[in-house]
Formats: sequence, structure tokens, C-alpha cells
Amino acid sequence: MYENCRLCPNFCEVDRHKTKGACGQTDRVRIAWSGLHKGEEPPVSGEYGSGMIFFTGCPLGCRFCQNYQISSPRDDAYGIEVTTDELSEIMLALQDFKAASLNLVTGTHFIPSIAASLDIAKKKGFCLPVVWNSSGYESQEGLQIIDPYIDVYLVDVKTYDRNVAAKFCGRARYCDYMDSVMDFIVSRHPHTDLDRMKGTLVRHLVFPGELDATKQFLVRFAQKYRKSCYLSLMVQFIPPRGDVYFPPVSDEEYDELIDMLDILGIDDGFVQDRSDDDILWIPDFRKDVPFPSSFAAALPYFLELKRKKLSL
Ligand code: SF4
Repeated sequence: MYENCRLCPNFCEVDRHKTKGACGQTDRVRIAWSGLHKGEEPPVSGEYGSGMIFFTGCPLGCRFCQNYQISSPRDDAYGIEVTTDELSEIMLALQDFKAASLNLVTGTHFIPSIAASLDIAKKKGFCLPVVWNSSGYESQEGLQIIDPYIDVYLVDVKTYDRNVAAKFCGRARYCDYMDSVMDFIVSRHPHTDLDRMKGTLVRHLVFPGELDATKQFLVRFAQKYRKSCYLSLMVQFIPPRGDVYFPPVSDEEYDELIDMLDILGIDDGFVQDRSDDDILWIPDFRKDVPFPSSFAAALPYFLELKRKKLSL
């Protein structure tokens, strides 16, 4: 798949053994952080946290990405290079670190290597439920490869509105692919039971000033996916660099959305608590623990690997 890369709907068709695509990455896997994180939805986090692996690079170009330090297609995107063996060792170390799940964050552009690492880890006793935590910007080819490894999809459906996609996601075409991605996932995972770590949790972040787009999404979700998937509705949009101000979702807008969930019969899932508004959600990947320490703990094996690689 790396030789003529079509892992996401950018369909660059470049040879990533030799060059980078629009995601800014070659075939050499780079990761920015690994450790436990308790800020994921409760069943995914469990008692000690979900075992996160944040991959460097991203096929989308969201203008206000909270992970901009690691997601940029530019050469300065933060991350260390790891082999498939090292990646499998990280997976096993997260299991030993009491992670409730393995949480693969934005791994779309490294799908073949992640599948290879999971194969290696499983042969050595890896048995955590695997969570695919992504923007949903995947091709059918990419999904076919990774799906057999996935227990829970934690997938963004950011919008079905092309103008909103162009403004916030960097690509208007994002929404053209969301139905086919969701239809694929639901065809393979028609039932969700997060207590058993099976199925799909659709995440939707309310974009500021775009309440109508969120309402359009909620109607579509209720019609097509309500019986198969849980919903996680998030309202904490924060531009990371502070160079632009967006008014937060107002109390009236928040109440309107909660009422709408009720009317549409969407009752399986999570709604972000507005009392979380003052938590500093934007990570700083230059630190050993990029998140508030009450939420996260770095994997010692990852820190060891990082120090070794950075000192070479
Ligand atoms: S993963 Fe997507 S953006 Fe990256 S090279 Fe492949 S098709 Fe292009």
C-alpha cells in the first residue's frame, strides 16, 4: 500500500518508500507520544487510562487542530521514528502499564505498519482491545486493511457541510467521504456495547458559529447510525494558537442541542460536561507529559526510546 499510496481520500498515489504524500510522512512510522490518558470516554479510559499512541502527521489539514505540533505536514512536525518491532514493544509495554485499551490516534497514513506491529505484538501475548481513534478520513482500501484489528472505532464525523469542511477541516471533500466510511464501519460492526469494548463511538465537535451544521449532522446520525453507534458530543472548541477568537457555545445553544438529542432519540453516548471548560485541553508535545498530569502518565518505555533516539 505504501508503493502507490491510497490509504486516505487524498489518493496521492505516491511511492512512500521514496517520498512523502500530503500527510507529510514517508513509510517510516513516527510517533509523538505514548502513555496513559484518562480524558477519553469512560469505557475506553477504564481505571488507569487508555494506552495512547499519537502518530505524527495527518492526511487532513484542520485549520485549528489542537495537535498542530505533531499533525502538520511540514518537516518540523514533532515525533520520533520507530520500527515496527519498536511499535509492537510500545503496545506490549502499554499493556503491562495497565492500559484499559490500545488507543491509536491518527494512524491512517501508517495503517500497513500498524497492522504489522499488531501482528508481532499479538504473537507475544498482546490482548488489549484496540481503539481506532481517527478523523474518519480513510479510504476503503485503508479501512479494509485495519478493520480486522479494530474493536472500537472512535471516529470523528466533523460535518456534512462542504463550506464548513473547507473552513475548519482544510478540505471540502472531507464530507463527501463520511457516509462511505461510516457505512463501511457499521456494516462490519453493526452493534455497539462499550462495556464489552465493541462497536463505534462517533465524536462530533460543535464548530463555533456553525450550529446549523451540527443540527444537520445530528439529524443524519439519528436517521442512519443511532441504532448502531454511540454519540459523543463535544463543545470545547479552542483555537490552539490564540491568534483568533471564537465565542464559545452559549448556554442557550448548549441547551438547544441537548433538547435536540432528546427529540431525535439519541440516548446512547456522552455529552461533554461544560464544567470542563477551564481544563487546558491543548497538549504540548514538547513535554514528557503533554496533558495535565492528573489526566495522563507517560509510558516509561516510550520516554527511554525517545531519549535514546534524540541523543543519537
Ligand atoms: S496517507 Fe493519504 S495523504 Fe498520505 S500519502 Fe497516502 S493518500 Fe496521500
